Amino acid sequence: MRRLLATALLALPLAAHAWGSDGHQTVATIAAGLIKGTPAEARVAGLLGDMPLSLASIWADCVKGIAPSQGYTYPAPGKYPACAALETPARIAEMADYVRRNDRQCQLGLDEDSCHKQTHYADIAVQRGRYLPKVTGTRPDDVVGALRAAILVLQGKPSPGQPNFKNQREALLVLVHLVGDIHQPLHVGSVYLDAQGQRVDPDKQGFDRASFTIGGNSLLLDPATTTGSKNFHSYWDNVPEEFRPQHVDADWLAEARQVRADPGTAVDWPPHWATQSLEQAGRVFDGLKFSARQGSQWDIELPGGYGARADAIKRQQLTRAGARLARVLQAAFPR
Ligand SMILES: [Zn+2]
Repeated sequence: MRRLLATALLALPLAAHAWGSDGHQTVATIAAGLIKGTPAEARVAGLLGDMPLSLASIWADCVKGIAPSQGYTYPAPGKYPACAALETPARIAEMADYVRRNDRQCQLGLDEDSCHKQTHYADIAVQRGRYLPKVTGTRPDDVVGALRAAILVLQGKPSPGQPNFKNQREALLVLVHLVGDIHQPLHVGSVYLDAQGQRVDPDKQGFDRASFTIGGNSLLLDPATTTGSKNFHSYWDNVPEEFRPQHVDADWLAEARQVRADPGTAVDWPPHWATQSLEQAGRVFDGLKFSARQGSQWDIELPGGYGARADAIKRQQLTRAGARLARVLQAAFPR
């Protein structure tokens, strides 16, 4: 559901939920396993009430079902099966309330129609070595800025105000989701392409709107050569069966415990996560062939063995996201 305007023509089903709902729930399941028995577990339960962490992890995507143009109603219940448990009157009212405060109150980015949607990503050129504020594809309320704001609210500190969180529960709902998104490489790193399908560098050559690939949503795979996805962003959102939340076991939790700690305090961590995701995006695009631009899209050809490469990156990023979600919750709720 990222950038609905741009992807409407592709008529994407559930696959358009970032990481798919499965990936987000896997991240939340890892984190829930790691905080078991800690004060953070009790504090999270205190804020979420009867909403399990895995359901909380898709709240910020299901929120996209609220339609500002239709009086902040939720016009299509049942469209996204993963959101079913959030489609009660009280929960719809809570989602609508968030969208009312996060609809047109920001500076809207390219291809976006609502502020809250652009908090799920950045679009940094893969040529950049790390996440830096103000380079092309970043905004104060991008996925890094939104995570930092949510962490500040959870720590009881003043937040920059964008996105607007009315309380710690709302900040937690968004945080649980965005820690997943920032680990999906195409939610951070992007290629910018010219009319011939050659990579360009928007920070060095100047930004040309026509070179923007919308986080991979304008890159099309040959469906005959991949399983299902035609849209390259969706290809990366989808996780294989063995990475679904029901496969999070003691071994996977042990692996997550080995994820290296980030330097600094919690609010410093999201830029590090983004930099690492940007490095992974470099691997995501390594060896790809791009056609000349057709309309506003490019066809892409994947090198041999790409599926295995992609699965390894997905598994590593899901594990890191789960471990880091647990750590940020423990840092926010030490007692
Ligand atoms: Zn998302």
